[in-house]
Amino acid sequence: VIDAGGAALLPGLHDHHIHLLALAAARRSVPCGPPEVTSVAALATALRAAAQTRPAGEWVRGVGYHESVAGDLDRYTLDALVADHPVRVQHRSGHGWVFNTAALKAAAVGEDAPEGTEFDGRGQPTGRLWGLDSWLRARMPGGSIDLAAIGAELAAFGITGVTDATPFETAADVAPLDAAVADGALGVHVTITGAPDLARPAGPSLRRGPVKLVVADHGLPSFDSLRAGFTAARRAGRAVAVHAVTREALVLALAVWHDVGSVHGDRVEHGAVIPVELIADLAELGLAVVTQPSLVARRGDDYRRDVEADDRPHLWRCGSLLTEGIGIGFSSDAPFGDPDPWFTIAAAVQRSTPSGALLGAAERVSAQTALERLLSPLDDPGGRPRRIATGVPADLCLLDVPLAEALRSPDARHVRTTIAGGAIRFDR
Ligand SMILES: [Zn+2]
Repeated sequence: VIDAGGAALLPGLHDHHIHLLALAAARRSVPCGPPEVTSVAALATALRAAAQTRPAGEWVRGVGYHESVAGDLDRYTLDALVADHPVRVQHRSGHGWVFNTAALKAAAVGEDAPEGTEFDGRGQPTGRLWGLDSWLRARMPGGSIDLAAIGAELAAFGITGVTDATPFETAADVAPLDAAVADGALGVHVTITGAPDLARPAGPSLRRGPVKLVVADHGLPSFDSLRAGFTAARRAGRAVAVHAVTREALVLALAVWHDVGSVHGDRVEHGAVIPVELIADLAELGLAVVTQPSLVARRGDDYRRDVEADDRPHLWRCGSLLTEGIGIGFSSDAPFGDPDPWFTIAAAVQRSTPSGALLGAAERVSAQTALERLLSPLDDPGGRPRRIATGVPADLCLLDVPLAEALRSPDARHVRTTIAGGAIRFDR
């Protein structure tokens, strides 16, 4: 028996799109982009400091790179910063890496490297590798990742369930996650998406959600190849979760949806640009949108500067979609967005960029609505918030204040106790 003292008891929060292994890796990585790093000099300092603390030959892993730091990075720029350690720096989109020369050598990236490896005019790799995470994983040292620490971090936010939206391709890719759920180290419920080819079952402890299909931000797939992904998912009796960040990607995805048809659980991941004229299509197809309000708070000024003027009025829609009856699920996309769901709630309410500008006034929602978008079931992110009732599993988040007070100033510090699957996972 826990005396809550009049404070609010909520269903445990759900993060509908996260990357657990990447988040664990990011915790032992060097930030290489804003806000921590905003110049070549700062990038050099950060990477050299990390290299100095490591024995010769050990990898340095950078994350969060953005072109505003030093333009289009390549191996030669990185070599000038750190040459005596293999260095790899991830673009903040999460879709590509830049390797220095030592890293290319250590990972044996050569002429036979697959598509996604960029070569210069002399047939030499530039160090840029896009969409090759699965291929690279087998060539990289595993390193120690601490999923128990990630589980503890999530529990302290009141989170009891997540969807890992990584497009895992093999059972080996998901094995560490499976083990961390099975032995209780992670301590939250995990549904994974996975690529169309991921064998079923991927692991005994992981629930399978929709199939993740990535419509690349750069270089769209053909209609037929995207359609093949949809039909493979349908053959397996599964919904699809389609990564669509750009206007073109969404148009293509919707064209395939109109052709193949939609099923319950289908969703657009991100929907960073949803032109107003496509909202009716989303509604007609009954698609949910899994969005990341924290990205507006973190990167809003970059969007205002870099996104094409035509797309700017349609960025990271939320309120306008809810008005049209479209289901929305909130998520972090951590490590690319902020894993703290209370930060997400505040960001959705304020829509304020780092410089304090307002991005999308019509997209603001109330704190209550924002919270509810984190309480929907994992298999129905746009659906109704879960309720606490006799007989439901004890996935609970106890606050230290009444709900109205927590919603006035959303903050993870109000999370007092988190119970997942009947076990106390966090107790302040
Ligand atoms: Zn993601």
